[in-house]
Amino acid sequence: MTHPFVAAVAAVADTAANGVMIVESGVLRYANLSARDSLASGAEAISPVLAGIVDAARRSGFWSGAVTDPAEVPGELVASAWMVDAGTGSDIAMVVVSRTPAALDPPADVDLRDVSGDVQRRAQEQRVVSALHRISVTGSADHLANAILETVPPLFDAEHVLILRPVPDGESMAVLGATGRTTRELEGMQVRASGIAGYVMREGTPVVCVDTARETRFDASEMRRYGLRSAAAVPVPGSPENWGVLAVYRESAGVVTPDALTVLIILADVLGAAVHRTDLEHRLRHRSRVDPVTSLDNRTSGYRRLDDALAAGRDDGRLTAVVLIDLDGFRSVNETFGFAAGDALLAAVAPVISGAARRGDAVARLGADQFAVICPGLTSTFEATDLATSVLAALAEPFSVEGRGTVVTACAGVAVGHGNRTAADLVREADIAVAAAKRRGPGHVEVFDAAAGGALRRRWAVATDLRAAIDADDLTVVYQPVFDIDIGVLVGVEALARWTSPTLGPLGPDEFVPAAEQAGLIAALGERVLRRACRDAVAWHRLLDGTGTGTGTGTGDGSVGSTAPTVHLRVNVSPLQLRTPGFLATVDDALADSGLDPSTFGIEITESVWLEDSDTVRSALRGLHERGIRILLDDFGVGHSSLGSVTRFPLLDGLKIDRSFVAELSVARSEAVVGAMVSVAEAFGLDVIGEGVETPEQLATLRRCGCRLAQGYLLGRPTDADSVAALVRAGGVLAAPGPSP
Ligand code: C2E
Ligand code: CA
Ligand code: CA
Repeated sequence: MTHPFVAAVAAVADTAANGVMIVESGVLRYANLSARDSLASGAEAISPVLAGIVDAARRSGFWSGAVTDPAEVPGELVASAWMVDAGTGSDIAMVVVSRTPAALDPPADVDLRDVSGDVQRRAQEQRVVSALHRISVTGSADHLANAILETVPPLFDAEHVLILRPVPDGESMAVLGATGRTTRELEGMQVRASGIAGYVMREGTPVVCVDTARETRFDASEMRRYGLRSAAAVPVPGSPENWGVLAVYRESAGVVTPDALTVLIILADVLGAAVHRTDLEHRLRHRSRVDPVTSLDNRTSGYRRLDDALAAGRDDGRLTAVVLIDLDGFRSVNETFGFAAGDALLAAVAPVISGAARRGDAVARLGADQFAVICPGLTSTFEATDLATSVLAALAEPFSVEGRGTVVTACAGVAVGHGNRTAADLVREADIAVAAAKRRGPGHVEVFDAAAGGALRRRWAVATDLRAAIDADDLTVVYQPVFDIDIGVLVGVEALARWTSPTLGPLGPDEFVPAAEQAGLIAALGERVLRRACRDAVAWHRLLDGTGTGTGTGTGDGSVGSTAPTVHLRVNVSPLQLRTPGFLATVDDALADSGLDPSTFGIEITESVWLEDSDTVRSALRGLHERGIRILLDDFGVGHSSLGSVTRFPLLDGLKIDRSFVAELSVARSEAVVGAMVSVAEAFGLDVIGEGVETPEQLATLRRCGCRLAQGYLLGRPTDADSVAALVRAGGVLAAPGPSP
C-alpha cells in the first residue's frame, strides 16, 4: 500500500524540475521524472550513491552535499536528504537532487561544496522540511504558500519572503504573497521587473545577491529602498515557462549557504507543482485581497470593487454608494485591552456588518476601525441611508466577542455617485460625512453633500420630505404657455413641477430638482410629472377636438377647435433621468396610458445630456426621436452650448434661447447674437423659442430677430391645468401684449 506521504509528495513533485525521491527501508518508493533521469535509474533497487545519501541522512537526520551522477549527465548534482517523521517506526527518507545551477555565479565567499554540519541550522531546516511534509500530506496549496512564507525566514536568517509573479506588461512583478515587517504591506502590489525577481525570471536560474551595495547584475535600488541588503531568489517552475519567483531577503549583507539555497529550490519546485495542481494562484491572489483580521476585502480591493461598481453604473445609470462605518471609541479598546482584544472586536464586528448588507454589496475594511459597505445598483440615496441605519442598529444589538456580550456604537457617512466619479472621490466624501456624523454623536448617519454645513442638512431635509411627497403623489404641475408670437396663438405649454414641503414650505424646482437628483429621486419625480402632464394635455386636446366637452364640434368651443393649433406638451427631463435605463419604457407607458399622441409631445434637456456620450443616453434619445417625440435644447446659450451644438446633434428639434439673452435684448450686441442663433437654427430646420419674455420691448426685439415662438411672464405665467383649459377654450389667443408697432 502506498504510504500517504508518498502519495502526497507524488502529487506535488511529479513535474518538479528537481529530482525528488522517497526511499522507505532501503526501497525506492517514489521517484519523479527528473529523478528517473539521474540518480534513481533502477526500478526499486537503489543505486549505491543513493543508498549512501540515505545512510548519511539516517545517521544525523539530514544530509546535503555534492554527488557524482552515475548517469554521467554533464554537470554537478547537489543532493539533500531528510528523514521524514511520517509515523512511528517508519524509515522514510526524502532525497532531492538539483543540478548545480551553472549560471549561479557564486560570489567568492560562497563555496557551494561546503557541507557544513552546523547543528542549529540543521534544526531549522528540519522545521521547514517537516512543514513541507505536513503540507504535502494535507495537500492544501494555500497552507503550503503560508508555510513557505512563514517557515523560510528563520532558515535563511532572513526577514522577508516574497512569492512573485510576472505581470503581462513585462515591467513589473506582482507580489502574491509576502511575510515580513515591511513587505507584508507589499501583498497585492507590484515591484519593478528590473529588480532581482525580474532578473531571475529572465535568466531562469537561482540568483544570490550578497550585498545590494555591490550588486551590478540587476537594479537593486528598490531593495535598498525597503532597507534590504541581501537576497536569494529562485524560479518557481511552471510550464512551459517559469511561473514566478520565490525570494528571500535580508536586511543585512551576507552569504546564503548552498544547503539553504537547495532547500529554497526544493520549496520553489514544490510550489510550482502545487501551482500546477491546484488553484494556488487564485488563492494567493485572494490572500492579497483580504484583510487578515476580519477576512473582509482589504482597502485595495475595497477601492477596486467600488471602482467596478461605479463603472457598471456608467452603463446602467444606477447609483453607487459607499457607506462608511466608523466605530466609536475603538482606540480606547486597543489601549485598554490590547491589540488582541481590538482584533477580536473587529473580527466580531465584520459579520454583523456583512449580515446587514444587501446581497451584492461588498464589505471591506478600509482602515483601523473603518468599514465600508459598497452598494452598487441603487436607484436612490435612501437605499444607502436605510442600509447605514440598519448596520448601526445591528451593531447596537449585543453580539459576542470571545464569549462575552458586547455592544458597539458607530457612526456612518454615506456618499453616493454616478459612474463619472471615482472610488477615491466617494471615499473622501463619505469620510467628510462620517466626520459630520461623529460631531453629532454616536449612532448618527450623515450624507455627504457638496455644499457643506447647513446646506447639507437642508438639502437632505428637502430630499426626505420629497420622498414622501413623491410616494403620496403630492407634487403638482403647472404649465407655462408658449405662443406663436407672429399670430398670437397658444401652440404649447411647458410643464413645471411645483411642491410645498410640509416642513419647509413652498420650494422652487431650482431647489428641489437638484435635491431629487442627488438623492436619486429624480426618475420617480419625473415620472409623476410626466404622467400628470400627459393626462392634462389629453384633456386639452379633447377640447380642441370638441370631444372633451361631450357636445360635439358644432357648439361652444368647437369653432375654435378647427382653427387653433394643437397644444404641444413639453416636459423637462433631467440628464440623470434620461440615463435611467427604464426611461423610454416609462415615456411609452405614460403616452399609452393617457392616449397622448407622441407627435404632440416633447422633452426639454440641457446640453450636458449631449455631452455625455453614453450608450444609455444615446439610445434613449434615438428612441424618442423614432417615436416622433420632439427634443428641445433648453437654456441654449449658457454653459457649454453654442451654435456649434446645433450642427453636432442631429436628433435635435428645437432650441430654447436662455432667459439671460432675452433679458439683455435691449443691448444691440445681444440682439445680433440672438439674430444669429435664430438664423442658424432655421437653417437647420430647428424651432427657436425665446424664454423669459418680461417686457413688450423684449417681445418686439425677438420678433425682429425672426424668433416665432416665445414664453415668459409677459405672455403668461405658469398656471394650473384648468387655466390652460380655459385658455384653450378661448381660442388660445394671446390676450395682453399685441405686436408692438
Ligand atoms: P426652465 O426649464 O428654464 O424653466 C423655466 C423657468 O423660468 C421656470 O422656473 C419658469 O417659471 C421661469 N420663467 C418663465 N418665464 C419667466 C420670466 O418671464 N421671467 C422669469 N424671471 N422667469 C420665468 P421654475 O418653474 O422655477 O423652474 C426652474 C427650473 O426647474 C426649470 O428651468 C427646469 O430646469 C427645472 N424644472 C421645473 N420643473 C421640472 C420638472 O418637472 N423636471 C425637471 N427635471 N426639471 C424641472
Ligand atoms: Ca425648460
Ligand atoms: Ca430654460
